[in-house]
Amino acid sequence: MALAMMASLPFAAAEGEEEDDLLIEEIIEDIDLDAIEYGDVEWDFALSLEEMDPEYIRLANKHYLLDEKYVPEMVKVQKSLDKGGLNYAVTPSGGWWYLQEACAEALHQMAADMAEDIGKKIYLKSAYRAYRTQKTMYNNRLASHNGKDDGWVSKPGASDHQTGLGCDVVPYSWRDKSMNEKMMREPECQWMAEHCQEYGFIIRYPDDKNEITEINTEPWHIRYVGIPVAQYMGENNLCLEEFCWQLQAAIQRFLDRGGDPAVVEKYIQVPTDEGFMPPNA
Ligand SMILES: [Zn+2]
Repeated sequence: MALAMMASLPFAAAEGEEEDDLLIEEIIEDIDLDAIEYGDVEWDFALSLEEMDPEYIRLANKHYLLDEKYVPEMVKVQKSLDKGGLNYAVTPSGGWWYLQEACAEALHQMAADMAEDIGKKIYLKSAYRAYRTQKTMYNNRLASHNGKDDGWVSKPGASDHQTGLGCDVVPYSWRDKSMNEKMMREPECQWMAEHCQEYGFIIRYPDDKNEITEINTEPWHIRYVGIPVAQYMGENNLCLEEFCWQLQAAIQRFLDRGGDPAVVEKYIQVPTDEGFMPPNA
């Protein structure tokens, strides 16, 4: 909008040239060069829509359940990718993991850079999990805990793993051990916590956000959200829930100012749990 206004000004006017110059100066002063607009309506969120892929910021938790039929487009993550140059992430023997392509690529890049930086290798312990698999895991967990949900296994539809963007990543030397706090002191985990945002990953269930995520701390579970979102979340110490609610509030402000619903439609996330009200909304 700002540029269009400037371009339509009569720059080459022979008469009253001084007045035009003044007018241009005034307009330039009035323009906030950082302002983002969609169809002349101000977008006041820190990130533009182009910096966020609606697929990568999709929330999956017990208030925002994924559909039983939701299966993202994914690529196979092979068993011994470390033999293929850049690819250092490997899966359990005999199996494949599936991840969305951008997530798989970012993971491989991160693993390769870590190997180069500190000479350590990471292992992909878990990636995409189908709704049905999650259902079995959840029921098994309930059965072994007197029917109680202890917060370690998500309900079917509520797992970040169903998005194809959630990965449990551990040091290669821990591939057969169970994940715990002690593991997090290993250099691989420290490096990952420090650098994962540069590759578009966040720690999905951080220690200081348990009340919001309603999931126990899982420092090994990283989630791909894309680089601009990961960096924004890091700078503002947000978990994915908080980020999504901030974005939903920004969408609401945009619509309240008369913004075109079609512009933001793909970014709208509505709780599937009807009794749930996001704090910012
Ligand atoms: Zn996980």
